[in-house]
Amino acid sequence: MAPRRLAAVLVALCAHAASTGAQSPASNAPDLVLTGGRIFTADSARPWVQALAIRADRIVAVGTSAEIQALAAPSTRRIELAGRVVIPGINDAHDHLGWGPLGTPDAFSESPMPDPAFAQVADSVAAIARRTPAGTWIYASVGTTVLDDPAARRAALDRVAPAHPVWLQGWTGHGTLMNTAALRIAGVADTARDPVGGWYGRDQVGRIDGLLHGYAAWNARRTIQAAQQDSTLVRTLRGAGDEMVRFGITSVQDMSGTFDPARAMRVIRAAELPVRVRVIPMPATTSAGRLTGEWNDERQRQRSTNIPVSGVKWVLDGTPVERLAVQRAAYADRAGHVGQSYFPIDTIAAIVAEARASDEQLMVHVSGDSTAALVLSLMARADNDSAWRRRRVRLEHGDGLAADLQPLARRLGVVVVQNPSHLALPHIMGARLGARTTAYGPLRSLVERGIPVALGSDGPRNPYLNILLATIHPNNPAQALTREQAVRAYTWGSAYAEHAEREKGTLAPGMLADLAVLSQDIFTVAPDALPATVSVLTLVGGKVVHDSGALQAGARSRGAP
Ligand SMILES: [Zn+2]
Repeated sequence: MAPRRLAAVLVALCAHAASTGAQSPASNAPDLVLTGGRIFTADSARPWVQALAIRADRIVAVGTSAEIQALAAPSTRRIELAGRVVIPGINDAHDHLGWGPLGTPDAFSESPMPDPAFAQVADSVAAIARRTPAGTWIYASVGTTVLDDPAARRAALDRVAPAHPVWLQGWTGHGTLMNTAALRIAGVADTARDPVGGWYGRDQVGRIDGLLHGYAAWNARRTIQAAQQDSTLVRTLRGAGDEMVRFGITSVQDMSGTFDPARAMRVIRAAELPVRVRVIPMPATTSAGRLTGEWNDERQRQRSTNIPVSGVKWVLDGTPVERLAVQRAAYADRAGHVGQSYFPIDTIAAIVAEARASDEQLMVHVSGDSTAALVLSLMARADNDSAWRRRRVRLEHGDGLAADLQPLARRLGVVVVQNPSHLALPHIMGARLGARTTAYGPLRSLVERGIPVALGSDGPRNPYLNILLATIHPNNPAQALTREQAVRAYTWGSAYAEHAEREKGTLAPGMLADLAVLSQDIFTVAPDALPATVSVLTLVGGKVVHDSGALQAGARSRGAP
């Protein structure tokens, strides 16, 4: 690959300058050197170095501590890493900024039970309704027991909380249950038509029963969220930004569907996040169709700003948790049921055709193996392999990209963006898929086949928890990545997944100086210790965006001036 060769040449030049004692003019001296570390570059040409030099927003050299020290001028700031691990800044390839509990805390976030029964949920909702003013939102995330319970419908919620809007969100983000007050605020009439890409549960007479699936839930959520103040959202986003830099996340790719486009961009701009943000439009739908053009104005407006808006994301199926990911064989725990596509095949073919006809990168939520097979075959029919390879179509999750589908995925240049917290459901997956669980959620085989893998959170934002889960893969341990593979996926892979691997994702000369100095060695600590990792120093474009003070404290205790 050309940029890698170029990087290798630059390394060689820098090393040569150091070894011959060549002095760079002061104006070319680095602004900052980091020495004495264990620096994982994610650059396969030179994965480990001791030191690196930064000028302005770029890395200008990597190498041994002696090589890099030789480049420093008196004006150069020096940071002695004392053996600490440095990684390229984490690039969270799949986040949902602003997806939160409607301004009120999750009613059950303190609950010891992640998957309560509906009777318990109804009791809690009744208790909260008694002690909060009428009209206050009651929001909680619930598990499969509630979503599988035929008693869990709007009428039952209306009985315990007639005057409070109640929103119970399946933790997968897909299934949702609302009472009548919530449906009213969401603008959903009792006999509303289903939107494209989703549907309402209905009783025997066709009246909406409070269950909302796919785009029915997300469209409703957007209407409800419209009532929130910009200031609340900006505060939420700033909290997310603080969390990111404390974890060493320096780039985030936001699947933006929670707000209408103008509002999403307004609050993201106002939040002035300390990390690089890419906004990926996730358009809404109506009963008349997909709102394919709703982001056009913002795409134009943002072209020249530092918050690019690019690509488009469509959710093609559900998840195995609600048995809605579309499978080639029936679910093990529901005879004859293979899941349910959110869109008809014609619409999925249209989505593929739109991707072929435009420069916008296509991201499709694809979970089931049938959905994966369908998308790949539609792509192969629509254009040749090299035309698709340029486009880097992304399968978000891509759990169903089974071994027999991988050769075609490789030829078409498909990128898989996996979210490791989804890999930690061995009991649910075992129940849903039985013996087929071992074909689900491939990771290691993708890397070995040369299919680019990126990682994103789409759940808990802690990258070290996610690295733990990617490297033990509770659902399917044979597909676990090594820690180096996981970090490379979270950095180089996520940059590749946004066509940005020539700018970031590796620590090599010419690349943006986005990096994190970590509190512990994530390549050697015991697995259980990984989630406690934090960044002690986070740089974005060579600028310090987070400094815990640990490096200075370490220097003082070692007797440095
Ligand atoms: Zn998502």
